[in-house]
Amino acid sequence: MIDTLRIGMGFDVHAFVTGRPLMIGGVEIPFDRGLDGHSDADVLLHAIVDAVLGALGEGDIGQHFSPSDARWKNKPSIEFVRYVKDLVEKRGARILSIDCVLMLERPKIAPHALSMRQKISEALQLELDRIQMKATTTEKLGFTGREEGIAAQAVCLISLRK
Ligand code: MG
Repeated sequence: MIDTLRIGMGFDVHAFVTGRPLMIGGVEIPFDRGLDGHSDADVLLHAIVDAVLGALGEGDIGQHFSPSDARWKNKPSIEFVRYVKDLVEKRGARILSIDCVLMLERPKIAPHALSMRQKISEALQLELDRIQMKATTTEKLGFTGREEGIAAQAVCLISLRK
């Protein structure tokens, strides 16, 4: 039995829209707009799910949760995170660490960062210190700078038994 390390990365973008709650990292953040999308449009969790799937060699989020499938309409994305946790277990793999970056001008993420990490930690059954996150503005440049939407990136390192 050889343990191999695999890394995966994920990237996601969702546009702001009025009339939806803003869900980031499984946490509802008070703001005047939410993110548009088929599910709850949790941009951070989508990036994390894609990072885990990439590390496992299991395709991408759209293959597992098609945006045209009515089952996923308005679904809390934390369920997608629980799904990939089960996939990791089925493969006999173990997540070693996750790191992610949110790119947005507003709202401020720092007051909510710990709650987000705790949510992700619970859903993945992974120690809190193995999940890191940061947020940055893009200095008012581009679509994030114009506050048209939010982008997120994540990387995930797993140990896979082969
Ligand atoms: Mg998405």
